[in-house]
Amino acid sequence: MRIGIGSDIHRLVQGRKLLIGGVAIPSDRGEDAHSDGDVLLHAVIDAVLGAAACGDIGDLFPPDDESFRDASSEDLLQRVLEATGAQIINIDTIITLESPNLGPYKSQIRKNLARILSVDETAVSVKAKTAEGLGDIGSGLAVKAEAAILIRSTSK
Ligand code: MG
Repeated sequence: MRIGIGSDIHRLVQGRKLLIGGVAIPSDRGEDAHSDGDVLLHAVIDAVLGAAACGDIGDLFPPDDESFRDASSEDLLQRVLEATGAQIINIDTIITLESPNLGPYKSQIRKNLARILSVDETAVSVKAKTAEGLGDIGSGLAVKAEAAILIRSTSK
């Protein structure tokens, strides 16, 4: 068994969707990004890559590569799961966002993450918190996500 961690942060800007774990959260601002900017899926990608010791998201999907413009982060994660052959045992995640309150969306995010990762919901934990008004996240300028993952090692 192998463990991995991942973290990501995105600026929040007007005119973009706020995608978290593949779920579109109603908000007047969303992640500024080259891809669709899903901060949670990017953290999960880096956690999987970390567990497999296969580099990071920027190595696989360079931000200056036009072929990844507006790329679906779910597709990117599927490609990483395929490439690493990772069999997920469980995953724990934290999203830090000042507003909107993610409480009403946590179960939907959890369900969708379980679907994307092809695991039971009981293997997926989604936690949401604010930054208590501190720093750039607390000022509503950014959203952050962190993920810790345990995978079963494969021969790939
Ligand atoms: Mg990112």
